[in-house]
Amino acid sequence: MTLIDNPRPDNLVLSPVKRSGLADQMKAGLDAPICLTWELTYACNLQCVHCLSSSGRRDPRELTTDECEAVIDELQRMQVFYINIGGGEPTVRKDFWHLVHYAVDHGVGVKFSTNGSGIDATVAEQLAHSDYVDVQISIDGADAETNDHVRGNGSFATAVEAMEHLRAAGFEGFKISVVMTRHNIAQVDDFRAMADRYGAQLRLTRFRPSGRGADSWDDLHPTDQQQRDLYHWLIDHPDVLTGDSFFHLSALGEALPGLNLCGAGRVVCLIDPIGDVYACPFVLHDEFLAGNVRDEGGFAQVWQQSDLFAELRQPQSAGACASCGHFDACQGGCMAAKFFTGIPLDGPDPECVLGHGEAAMDSVARASVGKDHSRTAVVIGRKPIG
Ligand code: SF4
Ligand code: SF4
Repeated sequence: MTLIDNPRPDNLVLSPVKRSGLADQMKAGLDAPICLTWELTYACNLQCVHCLSSSGRRDPRELTTDECEAVIDELQRMQVFYINIGGGEPTVRKDFWHLVHYAVDHGVGVKFSTNGSGIDATVAEQLAHSDYVDVQISIDGADAETNDHVRGNGSFATAVEAMEHLRAAGFEGFKISVVMTRHNIAQVDDFRAMADRYGAQLRLTRFRPSGRGADSWDDLHPTDQQQRDLYHWLIDHPDVLTGDSFFHLSALGEALPGLNLCGAGRVVCLIDPIGDVYACPFVLHDEFLAGNVRDEGGFAQVWQQSDLFAELRQPQSAGACASCGHFDACQGGCMAAKFFTGIPLDGPDPECVLGHGEAAMDSVARASVGKDHSRTAVVIGRKPIG
């Protein structure tokens, strides 16, 4: 089968000159996002302790099927090549498969993230025959003990079962997505072996203190030494996808593959279940809310005209990092990680490899530790997939 390639700067291998030219263009923003994440629902059958959207409960104001179709029509007009669908667990929406098919039929490829609970043998068979749907199975430990500590009892077995179904159906190249924590970072070789075993591709992402991740940050974020080890491992394994999420580690030496920039509001954004548009999936907070797809002008108006995105596309001040010789590589790190640890946006990343983040955190109060971004207390059970 042919899978969509992720057009996100997910491990782009570019010469330094091309990389800097492309990065400059992207800093100024594009006509349409190249990495649009759409959280279709906050309903979830799991309660992962690091969930960036604090998912678990469905919001009764979720976009209807008709409204979702209208958004997809708009994305098609804007020539958005593909969308990342997530949640919550997106497959619990009863119109999930309808919307996936609707997007593909309208020229918008889909990659969706799942904990595996919606992937049985029949679904895997259907997915294996689809040219424009890619699947990302989330797993946060190479064994049940490590994974279930974060994702809940039985979640490792569920994910493995889904991967078995995908392999049996002949679906090659699906993604195994792992959030790097201090408890699993030593398992990177095991994750890679797991991906090889299933004919999958490994994707590692950075743990950020967003949603429930703010509460579990101290327990889960990697140590300085682990960050260094990961950096060298990534340099040695350029085929492993990272979604450009570890660019703060580039201050350790050679730049990691990717554009090495914060794409929030420039090339990246998120639509949440009720249609709110945020600058990136890791900044679900009013300060980064640019508009709503239900507003006049829809998503295109928000992407192209919102004041917030215009501001994010302006050259950003290096601030406290101005005198750092590694700023070109590290760019001061991740805006979301700074915001949710209370560090000013022009301050150093909380995991600055030179150690400036710790000092910056000590001098400020954390912005939103404990903030729950799930909306209302409407609990729904596991819904059958259609
Ligand atoms: S805020 Fe962080 S996660 Fe979001 S786009 Fe910027 S660097 Fe990436
Ligand atoms: S001081 Fe700033 S630019 Fe330098 S390594 Fe730390 S976060 Fe990156």
